[in-house]
Amino acid sequence: VVNTETGHDLAAQRADLAAVCRTLYGFGWMPGTSGNVSLRSGGSVVITASGRSKGTMAAGDTVVVDPEKGRPLAGETERPSAETFIHLAVYRQVPECGAVIHAHAPYSTALATLVGAEGVVGTALFSRLELAKGLGVADPSEVAVPVFPNWPDVPRIGEDVAGYLARTADAPPVLLIDRHGVTSWGRSLEEARNRMECVEELSRLALLTGAFGPDVAKESAR
Ligand SMILES: [Zn+2]
Repeated sequence: VVNTETGHDLAAQRADLAAVCRTLYGFGWMPGTSGNVSLRSGGSVVITASGRSKGTMAAGDTVVVDPEKGRPLAGETERPSAETFIHLAVYRQVPECGAVIHAHAPYSTALATLVGAEGVVGTALFSRLELAKGLGVADPSEVAVPVFPNWPDVPRIGEDVAGYLARTADAPPVLLIDRHGVTSWGRSLEEARNRMECVEELSRLALLTGAFGPDVAKESAR
């Protein structure tokens, strides 16, 4: 099925989503049925269905939703991921975004857990780490990654993310959620996956060195 607006091949997009899920499951970043991946598909969004193991994902384990409410389009049979609202917030605020990945990668999640605080948006700082160049930000020498509260009401996380992206012109294409996980995005699924790999490795380096907080900023300003 080719989307007549964009020429996107929806069947190929569904297969691409399933393939990247299997890869990230293999890395151990989508344990249980966690994690979700989406692509912009014309004026809609195609996203992984709720409650599936990402190790055995197939093209049919995906659903096309409307980008405002996240409701399945007519003819879709699967239920979208509960975390669809986080994806939709990114698509709304970042016009060039073509793909979003959310995972429970261990080092990013551990870093989010150390930095996150109740009810406020925290910051994990990657300071002068070479791999930060892989995030495609204007100034990779200091990358401030937001850490959002993990509200039980997922749309509220989406609102926090949308508000942050609306007021932060130079926001990096990655975010953390306290005691929960990590989200990355890019123009393509490949770019989003590369950035997910970078933020997980940056988190690992930050945890190995212990350098990820505001004190690091003071240190490098000297
Ligand atoms: Zn999650």
